[in-house]
Amino acid sequence: MNVTNNTQAQRMSFWEKIYLPEIVKGLGETLKAMVAPKMTREYPEERFEPNGSYRGRPVLVQEEHGERCVACGLCSRVCPAIAIEVQAAETEKVKERYPVKFEINMLRCIFCGFCEEVCPEEAIVMSKDYEMVFESREEAILGKDKLLIPVAQLQERLEYLRRHQYYEPAAN
Ligand code: SF4
Ligand code: SF4
Repeated sequence: MNVTNNTQAQRMSFWEKIYLPEIVKGLGETLKAMVAPKMTREYPEERFEPNGSYRGRPVLVQEEHGERCVACGLCSRVCPAIAIEVQAAETEKVKERYPVKFEINMLRCIFCGFCEEVCPEEAIVMSKDYEMVFESREEAILGKDKLLIPVAQLQERLEYLRRHQYYEPAAN
């Protein structure tokens, strides 16, 4: 049987084998990087302001009359890092259920955005917040007091999601 030995060395052209053109190309890239505009920021004096596509820490949407979340638990089930804990309770309001406890462990969160994608109420979204400092493990477990953010502050992200058809706008 005629077996072709198709190794990397055999596929290389003459110019690839002598390396010189590749070295010149590499030096060209180095020179380009040397004259390109600098991207380094003097943080924290010079802050980075992300746009709506940015995935910072996940937060809960707070409406005037309360949180949007109906404690269905989908975000908790889909979270690959098992970072979300939701406990549901009943309410007299039309939506019937609300999260009596909602916690996200930010030591576990990997900012994947699955929770946001799966939520049927657009109640959990990725915010622009990237500044997180914790002095203990307990501090990194964020409850409703830290998770609930007024809907007005999340408009840019909600509009971004609607533009990219993550979900239909929820009826307020
Ligand atoms: S962003 Fe991903 S890892 Fe973080 S809480 Fe949501 S689903 Fe879990
Ligand atoms: S945030 Fe959304 S997916 Fe998670 S429990 Fe609330 S309504 Fe369900």
